[in-house]
Amino acid sequence: MKFGSVRFFKRLIVVAGIVLVAAPIILAVTFGILFGQQKKRADFLETVNWALLHNAPVPGELQSTDDLAQYFQNMPEEFVIGASFDYQLKYPELYYDRPATVPDDGKVCYLTFDDGPSPVTLQLLKTLDDYGIKATFFVTGANSEENTDALLAAARAGHTVAVHTYSHDYPEIYQSVNAYLDDFERMHSRILGLTGASSGIFRFAGGSINGYNQAVYEQIIAEMLRRGFTFFDWNVEGGDAVVGGLTREQIVQNVLNGAVGKDKIVVLMHDRHENATTAAALPLIIDELAAQGYRFEVLSAQVPPITYYYRGEE
Ligand code: ZN
Repeated sequence: MKFGSVRFFKRLIVVAGIVLVAAPIILAVTFGILFGQQKKRADFLETVNWALLHNAPVPGELQSTDDLAQYFQNMPEEFVIGASFDYQLKYPELYYDRPATVPDDGKVCYLTFDDGPSPVTLQLLKTLDDYGIKATFFVTGANSEENTDALLAAARAGHTVAVHTYSHDYPEIYQSVNAYLDDFERMHSRILGLTGASSGIFRFAGGSINGYNQAVYEQIIAEMLRRGFTFFDWNVEGGDAVVGGLTREQIVQNVLNGAVGKDKIVVLMHDRHENATTAAALPLIIDELAAQGYRFEVLSAQVPPITYYYRGEE
């Protein structure tokens, strides 16, 4: 076929036609699938919110698929997972007696710090103590072994110390429900051993649904709820996870922007050794939010949960 021949142009037209028709179809299908997945995740977390808010009954000894089905009997069918439940037999002590939730009226702020404890923890504790307010620390294992004193100081001062993850290694912990439980149990027992108490709450590494747990998030969430634990995502973030990324003023501004129009805010910030800027921002954040009428509380199993896609307490 000669370049510039009639046959060449005919072929060119055919190829161009196929591309013009096929490209929009491929795009539409791709976006359709993405939207469908997004909707599925949103529906799932809405259901989780509903279950926690309405204190869906948790039978005392759930060991079978039937028990789990009963637990989720008021939920959409696709929520009940009919796979293997070997992991339900693991860690027979790893249960929490979840209390009923109590509505949190008025403007309330839950300050939360992930990934600690660290040398920064003591600075955060000092500020919180100066203001006489309490916060919630979702801690990790490697860090807490290096900073046991800080973890204990937080617990003794009346802050909530709860599980974030032991390893903070996403590919490892989100391999399977078993892998998640192994990591969770390790951190949970460490906190229990050090402080003598379990808060019954936790925060997923990377949030409840993230790029690493697409294949297992439903099973993991269902299993953790079945065991009586409650998880919290967030609806405001300081944006301080990126090391060296933001100034003190930017962190303050992120929090204030995120809080606009919300009565109930769960603020995500970080407590790694690189987060000195967060510690410096904290007094300003507290001053501003207090001036806006927020009171500060700790998260607990009695606080109605906030997950992604949270749209209010209906
Ligand atoms: Zn984290």
